[in-house]
Amino acid sequence: MIKIEFDNVVKSLAGKVDSPRLEGRIIMGYVLKKDDNEIIPKTYTLTIEQHKQLESIIKQRSQGCPLDKIIGEKDFYKYRFKVSQDVLSPRPDTETLVEAAGKLIFKNNLKKVLDLGTGSGCILLSLLADFPSLFGVGVDISNKALTIAKENAQRLGVEQRCCFKELSWDDEKFADKLGEEFDMIVSNPPYIPREDIKGLDTGVKDYDPFGALDGGEDGYDHYRLIAKKVPQILSKEGYLLLECGINQAEDVKNIFEKQGLNWQKTLRDLGGVERCIILKK
Ligand code: GLN
Repeated sequence: MIKIEFDNVVKSLAGKVDSPRLEGRIIMGYVLKKDDNEIIPKTYTLTIEQHKQLESIIKQRSQGCPLDKIIGEKDFYKYRFKVSQDVLSPRPDTETLVEAAGKLIFKNNLKKVLDLGTGSGCILLSLLADFPSLFGVGVDISNKALTIAKENAQRLGVEQRCCFKELSWDDEKFADKLGEEFDMIVSNPPYIPREDIKGLDTGVKDYDPFGALDGGEDGYDHYRLIAKKVPQILSKEGYLLLECGINQAEDVKNIFEKQGLNWQKTLRDLGGVERCIILKK
């Protein structure tokens, strides 16, 4: 048994992470299998195994590995998701899209949502958890990501109302393979211009899957591919909600307008960035 002062855990994170006390509580909670709110500034007694785990987590964290990738969980919107290095970590920026989608689903009584590039499933599954009569399909090119998404569907108890398909929107038969239309399509596709990726934070460029970030040379490759497919899979009057990166909203809007979609609104995230574009068929 090893005695550990909580304050020393906090000190070992200080200067290395933005919120050492908060993260210290999450880490201690994880190691001791307690709710992080129960962790208080006192001396804890750890087994040798727990102590090794604690040291290893602090080391990984100090080297820039994001906390959620270490402990395998991330809170997003109203729910907790399993994550791994096979999926993009859910970001608060994406909650803008989820909230906007929820308002439209409620107002228009929408029934069927498609999530393109579902990753952990955080967008689709948040919507299914909020709306008990909604059905959804999540598409991803990564089978490993879909395994995580399916697990998250079970955790949230919505697995009866969704299915997941390993498909590429670059596939000529994409629409046929999906085999149905949707009254809402949502997507947070990879949108970082390839050259910019090496300039991102370690926590992003080294731990999020490259394929979930890489938007091709100008960042718009996936929007162009998706735009070609949307008219075949979105039902009449259906809604399309897209996330985009900084200063991309106007270009993304134009790409989709060229395919006959009607722009409705562009929404800013909490950081003031134009983040979510809403279009209608
Ligand atoms: N929002 C992510 C970032 O900037 C990128 C996600 C994406 O390409 N869809 O780190």
